[in-house]
Amino acid sequence: MKKWWFSLLLLIPGLAARSQHRCAVQPAPQAGIAPAPDAVAGRQAVITIPIAVHIVWSNPQENISDAQVQSQVDVLNEDFRARNPEIPTVPGPFAGDVADMEIEFCLVAVTRTQTAFANIANLYAGGRRRVCHTDLGGRDALDPERCLNAWVSARNDGACGDGTFPDDPQIPADEQGIFVRPDCFGTAGTATAPFNLGRTATHEIGHYLNLKHLWGEGLEDPLCQSDDMVEDTEEQAYSYSDFTGGNCPVHPSFSCGTADMFMNFMNLPADRCMSMFTRGQKERARAALAAFRPGLLDASCLPVATEPLLSEKEEPALLCNPASTDIALHLPKKEEYEIAIFDASGRLLFSDPNAFGAPYYISPGLFINGIYYIKIRNGRKIHVKKLIIAR
Ligand SMILES: [Zn+2]
Repeated sequence: MKKWWFSLLLLIPGLAARSQHRCAVQPAPQAGIAPAPDAVAGRQAVITIPIAVHIVWSNPQENISDAQVQSQVDVLNEDFRARNPEIPTVPGPFAGDVADMEIEFCLVAVTRTQTAFANIANLYAGGRRRVCHTDLGGRDALDPERCLNAWVSARNDGACGDGTFPDDPQIPADEQGIFVRPDCFGTAGTATAPFNLGRTATHEIGHYLNLKHLWGEGLEDPLCQSDDMVEDTEEQAYSYSDFTGGNCPVHPSFSCGTADMFMNFMNLPADRCMSMFTRGQKERARAALAAFRPGLLDASCLPVATEPLLSEKEEPALLCNPASTDIALHLPKKEEYEIAIFDASGRLLFSDPNAFGAPYYISPGLFINGIYYIKIRNGRKIHVKKLIIAR
């Protein structure tokens, strides 16, 4: 059904490009000159940026797998190191412009939040972007000074995503990051062609690092009046967003008097038609990191615990200890727990990987009088309690 709907869109002239455009970013007016690239000279060559992925879903299909998240991180670590498989296809005249951005990404957290709001990615309440705030049905950013926050959630504006520019005074720190639709995120799971090679996140992180679209401001630039402020990307008129069907653009494709670098990540063709950043973009992005996002330069890749801490009252508990009839456990959360009981010598006597309920009962008939240890596990949190059977 979805495919059929998409094909129909392609038959309506002009509609396909608008409905399937990748990026909803409308840059705020910016200073034309990037900060001096020397600002990052002398620091580490390869910068590793911690990334926290917040999956905010209303339809279970949007609750993408860890494997799909990891597939996106893998793409970023190829694209920002010029290790992506399309590099050899860059046309000869642009081959010398290809840059290894020397930026890598480490995944420090994945959060999952069920929301009551469909298409939350582009919903606002009182000027605040819902998806970025737990109290508005989304998920709070994780340390935005030291971490790139990526929200993966549905939207209804036809775009695959958007990313925030670093010097836009309109965007508060806790709403900075990238926003990508689940079907445009990563290469596995629900990622769907033509946006199934992870290039939406590559592109939106480009914006997050101050890179503009190659044509400059607006949806396109037919009069060649606007620019991306980068020296080695020639003036260009078009976004190439209508190349989302079977074909990629063919080199040379001219506009504004020169051949367009349509395969640059800051254009909008299908994922498989994109392949490179330039040296000029590298200078601009790394200068922006030093000037606007310095916290990322020294950030830690250690995983961050994101499970909300259980309060005393919400901890799993042994209800009767010593136990003489049933062993009764209070398991407060709605999800399943993993239960295991060991004797004093560490021998496993009982296990249930799918325990739930408050209370949850185990027959003591399995055990002779004595001391046991019961392990209760929920996600990353493990409780071990001493259990006494005495009849
Ligand atoms: Zn964009």
